Amino acid sequence: MKSLNPEDRHDLSVLQLARELWKIVRPYRGKFFLAICFLFLAIPLSQFALFLTRDVTNQALNASSLTIQERWDTVLRIVGLQAIFWLASSLLSTWREVLEWFVSMRATFDLRLKFYRHLHSLPLSFLTQFTPGAHLYRSTADMVSMFRVGNRVETSTPAGQMPPESKEVQMTYWYSNDVDPYDPGVMGIVARSMPLFIETIYALGWGMFLLSLIDPVLSLMLLAYIVPFALVSYFAFNRVRHAAFEFKEGIENEAATLRDSIAGLRTIKAFGRTAQQMGKYFGAAAGARRKGVTLGVELVKAQNLKQQGMRWIFTFSVYIYLANRIVQGQATIGDWVATALLIEAAQMPLQNFVQLTQLFKMQLVPIRRIFATLATEPTLVDPPGAPELPPIQGELSFDQVEFAYQPGVPVIRGLNLTVKPGEYLGIVGPSGAGKSSLVNLALRLYGADAGHVRVDGHDVREIQLASYLAQVATVPQSTFLYTGTIAENVGFGNPEATEDDIRHALDLAGATPFLALRPEGIHTEVAETAPVSGGERQRIGLARALVRNPKILFLDEATAALDPATEDAVLKTIQGLRGDRTIITIAHRLKAVTHCDRIIVLDQGQIVQMGSHEDLVSQPGLYQQLWRQQWEEIAGHALEVKRD
Ligand code: ADP
Repeated sequence: MKSLNPEDRHDLSVLQLARELWKIVRPYRGKFFLAICFLFLAIPLSQFALFLTRDVTNQALNASSLTIQERWDTVLRIVGLQAIFWLASSLLSTWREVLEWFVSMRATFDLRLKFYRHLHSLPLSFLTQFTPGAHLYRSTADMVSMFRVGNRVETSTPAGQMPPESKEVQMTYWYSNDVDPYDPGVMGIVARSMPLFIETIYALGWGMFLLSLIDPVLSLMLLAYIVPFALVSYFAFNRVRHAAFEFKEGIENEAATLRDSIAGLRTIKAFGRTAQQMGKYFGAAAGARRKGVTLGVELVKAQNLKQQGMRWIFTFSVYIYLANRIVQGQATIGDWVATALLIEAAQMPLQNFVQLTQLFKMQLVPIRRIFATLATEPTLVDPPGAPELPPIQGELSFDQVEFAYQPGVPVIRGLNLTVKPGEYLGIVGPSGAGKSSLVNLALRLYGADAGHVRVDGHDVREIQLASYLAQVATVPQSTFLYTGTIAENVGFGNPEATEDDIRHALDLAGATPFLALRPEGIHTEVAETAPVSGGERQRIGLARALVRNPKILFLDEATAALDPATEDAVLKTIQGLRGDRTIITIAHRLKAVTHCDRIIVLDQGQIVQMGSHEDLVSQPGLYQQLWRQQWEEIAGHALEVKRD
């Protein structure tokens, strides 16, 4: 199996990356190559037009032996040719740009879909390696840097959720975060940056060729300038990038202090800490200012001092050399004019070259990260030709199941268990005993290392997962409410449910009393942040599960977050559901399982006790111990409350 850790796969070579990127651009290769052809035509056309100024100068402007009419005719002829060249070059460049944007956007769109689809196909063992924030980061910041859409990523990636990465990588995050609608992003590396790279080299090549027609020494001078210019600028801009990152950190620090000051204003005032807080803010602001100045200085040093300095030395050398040649009658004024224009035209590609190498370096980090995720192979996929699971009765069995998240740290050890259709089973045990892992295996979120998990006799790994999941449902500890009506939230569990089905599910879940209090009933708008009580939320969650009419219902600490009175009420509702469906409830608090038909006590991945609550509580063992502990806690708490 390939490594699941994408960081291990950051070592994809540039060549491998290029191959992967090319796969994405390939469907648009026709347009891509057409753009490159246009580029190959447009550059020489525009440069030849510049070169022709030599003829305008020598054959017309400076040709004192000709009549005025002859000189004017020559001007018109050559300038006309230049105009045609420029026009053709502009049209070709325009088409090229449009094609490149098209390819870049289409390829980015394809890659985003591919990434999104892939993310969903990955096993939980991969996904849980990162915080949700990190996933969000991969799919927003990295993606946005491929498809910059004009809103800032920071809004969706709160501070503190930044994946812990090296400074270099974080710098890239920042660049990725600064959304620039004119930047084609990461896919643009192929569709835009690469052609620009070709253009740069090609344009410089043509520049050197045309200069060599004037005087080979000039093209050598250009060559002697290009190499140090590129190197010096590259290193100078490395420093700028570092300074920019430091500045960004400074500003973030200042913003964080400001945020704390405003959010904690009450506490600051109450503790009389205003002066200290001000000092802290001024310190942070001064730090940001200093770093801003450093950035400015680095920028000025790179652009004005180094780049401009080298440029002037080069231009000056060319002028001196050519002036000397003209004075000696070995070159013409036309040569002078054309050279001036050609060396000026070489500046732009040179600047581009330096910026592109910087951009390349920055774009490589998110590209690597995205392709590292894409290179992670999905496991637990349906085997080829897997059959659909027919309607089930609701029997779930574990047969000699072994499971570990990390090799050598077993979590489930040789577990055997059969849950009969319609049974109400409780799974209890201390924290870390493996209760949730058992449900994870039952839902095929993870695969057993050995043994079989079967539903109605079918191994869950050998059937079409979707056909199985359609017949089961889970209620987690806290139900997430999507923005929308209660009916929509319940309907999430089963898109085909009618309004009657939804009402029925809510009724079964015991939600009718609180719905009756709301004028809009099931059409009441809710949201994750809406003031919906814990009990109401869990009932909506229960209804969401029930609307699927599941044959197996998993309750994963579904009442753990509720206050005792609400918990009692929800538990009563759950007990009312038993009968025609298998219910498997995981609980840390034993109160949630006392009414189960059967309770299994799990410890260190093994079943250590099994029986009804009455059986278990009356025999010495872990269950009795847990029961006593929990009663003592309750009694202790009650005593404390009384004392208060
Ligand atoms: P319980 O539900 O009984 O509290 P779990 O099934 O959640 O126990 O966990 C069992 C053991 O597996 C614990 O030691 C826990 O730290 C570990 N574990 C749980 N999830 C993961 C995971 N995604 N990666 C690695 N270890 C995990």
